[in-house]
Amino acid sequence: LKEALNLSADDIQKLRDDLKQKINEDKTGAYVEQLTSQDISEAGSGIPIAIKDNINVKNWEITCSSNILKGYKSPYNATVINKLNDAGLSAFGRTNMDEFAMGSSTESSCYGKTLNPVDNTKVPGGSSGGSAAAVAAGTAIAALGTDTGGSIRQPAAYCGVVGMKPTYGRVSRYGITAYSSSLDQCGPITQNVEDAAILYDIISGNDPMDSTSANVEYEAVTPKLDENRKLTIAVIDSFVEEASPAIKAGYEKAIKALEDAGHTIVHKNMLDTSKILSSYYIVATAEASANLSRFDGVRYGNRKGNAGLKDMYTQTKTQGFGEEVQKRIMLGSFVLSSGYYDAYYIKAQKVRHLIKDEYEAIFNDADLILSPVAPTTAPEFGSFKTSLEMYLSDIYTISVNLAGLPAISLPVDKDENGMPVGLQLIGKAYDEQTVFDGALSLE
Ligand code: GLN
Repeated sequence: LKEALNLSADDIQKLRDDLKQKINEDKTGAYVEQLTSQDISEAGSGIPIAIKDNINVKNWEITCSSNILKGYKSPYNATVINKLNDAGLSAFGRTNMDEFAMGSSTESSCYGKTLNPVDNTKVPGGSSGGSAAAVAAGTAIAALGTDTGGSIRQPAAYCGVVGMKPTYGRVSRYGITAYSSSLDQCGPITQNVEDAAILYDIISGNDPMDSTSANVEYEAVTPKLDENRKLTIAVIDSFVEEASPAIKAGYEKAIKALEDAGHTIVHKNMLDTSKILSSYYIVATAEASANLSRFDGVRYGNRKGNAGLKDMYTQTKTQGFGEEVQKRIMLGSFVLSSGYYDAYYIKAQKVRHLIKDEYEAIFNDADLILSPVAPTTAPEFGSFKTSLEMYLSDIYTISVNLAGLPAISLPVDKDENGMPVGLQLIGKAYDEQTVFDGALSLE
C-alpha cells in the first residue's frame, strides 16, 4: 500500500488490471465474485482496496454473505468508503465472510467457503476470511474487514497477514451492517504493519453520522511510527495454558524477541476465560437479535411467503437466514426476554465491566499486552463440529472487543506444517500509536 500511494494514475491502472487477472486465476474463493462468476466490482479508479461484504459501497450489491440480502444494492457509501475515496483509494472487489459476520471460519457464507491460501485444506478464519485470504494470496494489496469478536485479527493470524482492530468508536460504523453494535469495529488487513497504520489513518476519525463514533482528538499514527520505542509489555501466563504447543512456542519466542529488543516484560493474571466467553456470546447475540430484526422481507432484500404477514416474516427469515444466524437470533431473543433479562443479559454486562476493569488494572503497569490470537493455527475444514467448539476458539479475541480496546494481530512464527502463528498486541483505548510501534518491533 505504501508503494501504491506513490504510483502514477497509469501505474495504478496497471496494478488494477494485474489484480483483476490474479483474482480471475485465483482458486481460494476469497472474493464473492469468484464464487458466483460475476465480474469484479469496482468503484472509482483509485488504489484498489478489497471490501468485506458487510460494508456499503454505493450501487454495489451488499449481502453479508446471506441469502436474505441477495440482490440488494447499497444506496450510499459507508463513511470508511468515502474516506478511502478522499485519500485516492477505491473499493475493488467484494470479499467473502461468514454470514452476517457470525463465525470464525468463513464456512457459513451463502456463496460457499474460502480456502486458506497457505494450505487449501485449512480454513482462512473468519468472519473476514475473504479479506485475509485475498491479502495473503496477493490478490489484494490491502483490505477492510470488521471485528466484533476477532473477525479481523483471527483470519489475519490464520492466513499469516496483519490485521488491526481499532479502539471502539475510533472508526465510523456508518454504512457498515451492524452485527453487535457495542462491539463492532472496522479495520485494515494488510501485508505489513506500516500498511496497516496507513490504512488505519485513512479510515479513522470522528463521524457525526455515527452516534457511537468517539469525539476524541485524532492524530495520525503513521508519521510518528517508532520501532525503537522501549515499552512495558504484559503477558498473561494463564492465557496461554489452553493454547497448542505451536502457539505456545511462538509466544515464548515473541517474548524473547521483545526482551532482546529492549522492552520490559511483566507477568499478569486475568479472569478465567469461561466468563469472557459467556459474557461475549450473550451480549453479541442479544444485540444481533435486535439488529437483524430489520431483515423482515419488507425493507431489504428477498421477500418470501404470501399467505399474510406472519407467513411472510416466517418464510423470509427461515429461507433467508442460515443455521448459525437463526441460532444466534433465538439465543439473543431468549437472553433479552422478560424473566431472563436480569439473569443473563444484565449479568453479562456486569462481567463485561469486570473484564474492562481488569484490563485497566493491567494497563496501570504496562503499555501493551501480548496474547495469542487463537488457541491453534488454522484448523482443517469441518473441524468445528458444534457451534460451541467454534465459540471456544474465540477466547483470546473477544475480551478485547468487550473492553473496546485496540489490538493488532501479526504473524510471528510457523507451526510444524508451515501454518502461520499469529499473536496480538493489545493497547489502551485510543492509544493505537503504541500498538503500531510495538508491532513494528515484533514484525
Ligand atoms: N467469531 C466471533 C463470532 O462469531 C467473532 C465474529 C466477528 O468478530 N465478527 O461472534
